[in-house]
Amino acid sequence: MGTGLIYTASGLDRAANQRSDADWVAARLAEPDMRLVPVWRNQNLVNGDAHAPVPAMPRGDQARHLISQGGSLVFLGLAEGTPLFSADFSSMAENEALSLAVRMVDGDASFVDLRATGWLLPRDQAAVLAYARGLSYWHRSHAFCGRCGQPTAIHQGGHMRKCTDDACARETYPRTDPAVIMLVTDDGIGGHGPRCLLGRHHRWNFAMYSTLAGFVEPGESLEEAVAREVFEEAGVPVTDVTYMASQPWPFPASLMLGYWAKATSVDINIDDDELQDARWFTVDDVAAFGEWGADIPDDMPRLPRKDSIARWLIETWRDEHT
Ligand SMILES: [Zn+2]
Repeated sequence: MGTGLIYTASGLDRAANQRSDADWVAARLAEPDMRLVPVWRNQNLVNGDAHAPVPAMPRGDQARHLISQGGSLVFLGLAEGTPLFSADFSSMAENEALSLAVRMVDGDASFVDLRATGWLLPRDQAAVLAYARGLSYWHRSHAFCGRCGQPTAIHQGGHMRKCTDDACARETYPRTDPAVIMLVTDDGIGGHGPRCLLGRHHRWNFAMYSTLAGFVEPGESLEEAVAREVFEEAGVPVTDVTYMASQPWPFPASLMLGYWAKATSVDINIDDDELQDARWFTVDDVAAFGEWGADIPDDMPRLPRKDSIARWLIETWRDEHT
């Protein structure tokens, strides 16, 4: 709470105690003002121009008509009493899904990748779209039982799938993969004033420097995962692993757990497979970084995207030292 991180604070009442009651969900679906969050192949429907998008959410009869054409209906929750549902149109071709959806909303809607627009949306709405996208992905990837391979069916308002083979009847619930992401600092060990360790990935063709991150492995605590990832990627041993904040990251199915950690040695030995470069940056260095997407030389260091907890971890550290 209070971090201001995008994709948090949807404000929804998920009504977890009621949503397993099929009659209760059906009554919410029948409400005249209910609204639908359409999802098509991991993309969300938005209105407006690229600089000021707003979620496009058909309501009432139009929403129910759309739902009748789609799949994986999910009750998301109540937004100040208004029922919100999501449905998935991924089985349609893009033009088919779009022409169907656009007829149900005012304006010139399109399906967009939330990663490209999320930080431009009001935070509560970005969180709702991320939630819908994450659940939609889960449904698409759990259509069959992981134990016996038979089809699964939706239950509990879209929050559980159950194997349709009565002898198996295995239940599966939406999964979130924990990933740790960490800002490592040196506390001025090298006599430079405080510095932070940031890495550049091969996948960026410009110099974006970000916090290190990685998935938590089975049998590992979060603190152990932080220390392992930093050592694997940069060869730097850390201590004092301290939790800072978390952020839903349904791209496609993660929860980012943000930490600060202190280096006990400043020598860097990068894993070439993971990183192109890793360096220590002072507060002044970071303050001079360029903005993501700015028209600056490719080799000039720049910050990660505004919607990321990486950015938040870096800026929180920078602001604490300026
Ligand atoms: Zn089964």
